[in-house]
Amino acid sequence: MPDEELVAILRLLFSGYDRSTIVTAVNEVMAYPENKRTRRICEHCGGDNISFDATVVWDTKLQQLDLGCSDIERCWCADCEGETHDLEVAHDYVHPNKSSDETHG
Ligand SMILES: [Zn+2]
Repeated sequence: MPDEELVAILRLLFSGYDRSTIVTAVNEVMAYPENKRTRRICEHCGGDNISFDATVVWDTKLQQLDLGCSDIERCWCADCEGETHDLEVAHDYVHPNKSSDETHG
């Protein structure tokens, strides 16, 4: 399938969806093997309900939004309701402040 056709199909599929839905769908399609997956979690509570500020820019050549400058030094934890730093951990890592049955994803 030509790339232009694929891009047209993806545009049609994703039209009307918000950014986080698209990012989630793309992440699922691009998923790594489970044993190589990592999670980013809040350093305080161990929750993975964190978000980063980022700017996306339009790449005319690739005809897609591209991650531009971003602030990955800090993130927001919805569980702590505050600014925090993230930790990148193995997908099955259990934070000391979080019991294993609370862990999801
Ligand atoms: Zn937190």
